[in-house]
Amino acid sequence: MPLFVEVALPVPMRQNFSYQVPEHITISPQKGMRVQVPFGRQQLIGLITATSDSCSLTPKQIKPIVAILDTEPLLPDSLYKLTAWAARYYFCSLGQMLSQAIPVALRKGAEVKASTVSYWTLTEAGKEADINQLNRAPAQRKLLHSLRERDLELGEIASLELSKAAVKSLDEKGWIEKKSRTLDIDLSWRNELEMTEEPHRLNPEQAIAVATLTQQQGYHCTLLEGVTGSGKTEVYLALLETVLKQGKQALVLVPEIGLTPQTINRFRRRFNVKVAVIHSGLTDNQRLDAWRQAKSGEAAIIIGTRSALFTPMLYPGVIILDEEHDSSFKQQEGVGYHARDLAVMRGHLEQIPVLLGTATPSLETLQNALNGRYQHLHLGKRAGAAEKVRQGIVDIRNQPLRSGMSHALLNEMRIHLDAGNQVILFLNRRGFAPALICHECGHLHECDRCDAFFTVHQALGEIRCHHCSNQYAIPKQCHSCGSTMLAGQGVGTEQLASFLEKEFPNHPVVRIDRDTTRNKGSLEGHLNAIHKGEYKILVGTQMLAKGHHFPDVTLVGLLDVDGALFSADFRAPERFGQLYTQVSGRAGRATKPGTVLLQTHQSDNAMLRELMHKGYGEFARNQLFERTQALLPPAWHMILIRAEAHHAIDADNLLNQIGALLPQDEECEVIGPMPAPLDRKAGKYRRQLLFQTKNRNRLQLEFERALPQIEQLPLAKKCRWSIDRDPQDLL
Ligand code: ADP
Ligand code: ZN
Ligand code: ZN
Repeated sequence: MPLFVEVALPVPMRQNFSYQVPEHITISPQKGMRVQVPFGRQQLIGLITATSDSCSLTPKQIKPIVAILDTEPLLPDSLYKLTAWAARYYFCSLGQMLSQAIPVALRKGAEVKASTVSYWTLTEAGKEADINQLNRAPAQRKLLHSLRERDLELGEIASLELSKAAVKSLDEKGWIEKKSRTLDIDLSWRNELEMTEEPHRLNPEQAIAVATLTQQQGYHCTLLEGVTGSGKTEVYLALLETVLKQGKQALVLVPEIGLTPQTINRFRRRFNVKVAVIHSGLTDNQRLDAWRQAKSGEAAIIIGTRSALFTPMLYPGVIILDEEHDSSFKQQEGVGYHARDLAVMRGHLEQIPVLLGTATPSLETLQNALNGRYQHLHLGKRAGAAEKVRQGIVDIRNQPLRSGMSHALLNEMRIHLDAGNQVILFLNRRGFAPALICHECGHLHECDRCDAFFTVHQALGEIRCHHCSNQYAIPKQCHSCGSTMLAGQGVGTEQLASFLEKEFPNHPVVRIDRDTTRNKGSLEGHLNAIHKGEYKILVGTQMLAKGHHFPDVTLVGLLDVDGALFSADFRAPERFGQLYTQVSGRAGRATKPGTVLLQTHQSDNAMLRELMHKGYGEFARNQLFERTQALLPPAWHMILIRAEAHHAIDADNLLNQIGALLPQDEECEVIGPMPAPLDRKAGKYRRQLLFQTKNRNRLQLEFERALPQIEQLPLAKKCRWSIDRDPQDLL
């Protein structure tokens, strides 16, 4: 039995830690098991990365482990390899990466064993009791009656609307008791797949795609580029049918906002199999249950958002990423991994195909498809009988606007509403007005902790900073001159919605943005009401753009396009192209022709014209060419190092010192330090440094070489700083 173990711990130090295995522990330690260990004054749970019979530390330096928590490795070997690869690629510790990959409940020490289920059952006394004794306690009577028919799982008490108080009373009477049983793992789907819905008859393009995909053996990565509504999901379902029939599982990743019951139901309706759903709204235990079902092979389909990428599968068959361009696949806080890139790596390691689907491929994926690294499949036609959309630009130079709306757009709205259709208006600014301005002195009210204006939220009576949690009642007087002539500057979704309510009193308005969908289930509620036609005018931020199907929407208006055309972020045009194309796809999906209108001061903008006339495909290829010319990703490779400090000079100095440790030549570039686009946030100054290389490997090697020296810098211990590889947002 090995005497020593190396352990990866969820701490930022990029190293593993050595411990001794005391004699009283009888489980033989193996790579991948969880262990509880002393660390400083606390105890942590980590994973064994290696075992050995010797150790270079002196007996005094080495501490014993507290316990081994598993009897076998927690994850399949492929997922260890994936996390190890990712930790190296994203320059974080293995322990930090593993924390991303393992459900919270397991990190806290929960058991891995097959799930048990607790249920209420009758005792002997309960079976014999006279139910008429309960005539005056109807809730207890109802419960006893139900339990005489069958045992009830704890969750069923609530879903059958039985009273918890009644449970307590009967328990106290000694008539019922709580028991638990282990669930048997049901793998019957692997022997006989039951289809519960007749698939559509595939059109020729879909049929070619499915034929190509089902022939793939081992690792392949494929881009399925199909216009909105062209039937990509139908292709996924047809592929799943083949994969499931082979007794293999499928992992389906969708954007955060795309994981609605409608999406999940489409998968549930087709096959009679267990679908495990994994997203950030689950409790730790629900998440663990879904994880167990995937790991045991019981769940044939695992569908989830970004972090579901790490879900183990006993019979891995395929990984599908829907809307692969979506930015929610990149984690922004902490370890900034990209689920799309890791999905491709996982496909490699597990030797299974990976399918990336979208109407608007990211330039990264497009490049890989164009240079032949990925297979490239197309769906060019809309699946149903939908007609092509009509597109138009409204030049708003010198035009009077009412709450951001031009005459032309209002008139067009009227036509569509009178015809009984729905209209969507996009405005990427929530709140009532993006700034509060003094009419007398022109003072703009700025957050005292950030380099940003307060947004006015009229309904809440507050001004709020969207970059920190700062909020105040709307001031009555100007902070600069004391005038009471304060007005909102610019238009946000809240103002637009309230203007439209007055303008179109007979057509109900709904607003969809982060403010109106904060509560759990509220987005779902709004979407359902839209589908039922309870709302005619839909006002929203880009939340509304993603993957929702609204067959009665015939007009889509984009109110403020100019911001996207002139952003400091080199990805802004790509994002705008995606947003524009996605929202255009919302119009006229069914049999009704759609119209898209775009308001801008830049009606001659070449990029805009290209996008509208030639479509996303050509637009994106030109963007890719421009990125290559400008030595930007995906042609070159990039790391963004962020630093923040109470004194700007500290952040600047740190980044200067880091920059000095990195090479500069024809193939390596250091840019900065420079202020972050949001220069000050929550009272701290924010600076950033870019390190770019022509060659991906060189970036890895150079940064790995510099990192130990960077960590030794005294300022590195004083300031908060972070590394973002392949940054998606330069903010
Ligand atoms: P996407 O995922 O590309 O947006 P979907 O798969 O959701 O497209 O298809 C759009 C609509 O067309 C859906 O209502 C779907 O049921 C329907 N559809 C897809 N493929 C077919 C087909 N081959 N025949 C008829 N209808 C189809
Ligand atoms: Zn702020
Ligand atoms: Zn003033």
